Amino acid sequence: MLRVVLLVAACGWVFFTGAVQAQTTGTLDDLALSRPLTSPAAFDAASRQEILTFARLLADSDAFDEPRWRQQLGLPAVNMQVIAEVRQRFWRRLLKNYQYASESCSGAAAHCGAAKDLATFRQQAANFALVDGPTKRFQERYLSERMWLAAQFPTLSSEVAFFSPKERNGDELLDRQFLLTFDDGPTAVGGYTDSLLAYLRAQKLNGVFFVLGGNLQARLQATSARDLQQLYAGQCVGMHGWEHQSHALWDKWQESVRGSAALVSNTLPDSYVPLFRPPFGQRLADSPAFFAKQKLEVVLWNIEGQEWDEKVSAEDAAQRLLHLMLLWRRGVVLIHDIQPKTAVLLPWLVQVAKKSGMNWASCRRYPMAATPAENQ
Ligand SMILES: [Zn+2]
Repeated sequence: MLRVVLLVAACGWVFFTGAVQAQTTGTLDDLALSRPLTSPAAFDAASRQEILTFARLLADSDAFDEPRWRQQLGLPAVNMQVIAEVRQRFWRRLLKNYQYASESCSGAAAHCGAAKDLATFRQQAANFALVDGPTKRFQERYLSERMWLAAQFPTLSSEVAFFSPKERNGDELLDRQFLLTFDDGPTAVGGYTDSLLAYLRAQKLNGVFFVLGGNLQARLQATSARDLQQLYAGQCVGMHGWEHQSHALWDKWQESVRGSAALVSNTLPDSYVPLFRPPFGQRLADSPAFFAKQKLEVVLWNIEGQEWDEKVSAEDAAQRLLHLMLLWRRGVVLIHDIQPKTAVLLPWLVQVAKKSGMNWASCRRYPMAATPAENQ
């Protein structure tokens, strides 16, 4: 039963997307050329296209009632309240993002407009002419994915919604600012975790590594605490639980959190950060009180590559990340240091970010003070 639930949680969106992913081919160089984000203004123009496309799709489904959502998502029951909340959050964020993306508008720049308030923006979105292509195909799939998760929250918990205002997903970062996070490590000595850390060091970049206690302990036994401290020097290390199990379905979830936090803080005192990321984003509705007592913060995400899926190539994952970075314009990026695809897609993303004015937030400063008006 547990296995089935997890499989659905991790892979459910694939039902909407398999056909689309198969169409993405080519090398990462080709991708960069097909979307030349060579300046901050080019980033904004591509961002406006993503935002208006997603907003038009959102507008088209605003009037869906419960039976329509059940039919659309293929679910026997849907949580209309969470669907409505998630959509409202999206609308507020999209309006803000569109305003940011329009600041560089001048002359004949495409998709510019004066969206002063939500009503104006909704109208503009409803009138936006959808163009068939990768952006529309991706955003259709992405909206279905979000609604599929929202419809089942909180029975199936995920990153799509929150149990407490203290849970974070990256919305509180600044425009164009992204935090890198890496899950599921570390690998054995000399594995992908090591090469990824070497790459980050060379690039003077950092991120939060949400490690599994079991993996860290295995590595500690194979080497030493000092080796691990050197390995993660300059990086931040948070917890992903002791084992990769749903922390909503596992009766030992509190032990898992406490045990992994103790191991990380004792082994890596300089890199330890009191941040926890639940595997699959799954946690219990009443877990915020436990996390507060442990002085831990739950960090979810809003931008993920899904490169863990064997059907998703490095190119697919890179495209997905870029679509989402253009749409949300800020946030927590989730990829996996244990995945060989990350070694391919991350350098590409770092190159694109350099040219297009995206910034990488320092993991040391996360979570940083949010601007209240931005975080609504
Ligand atoms: Zn994970």
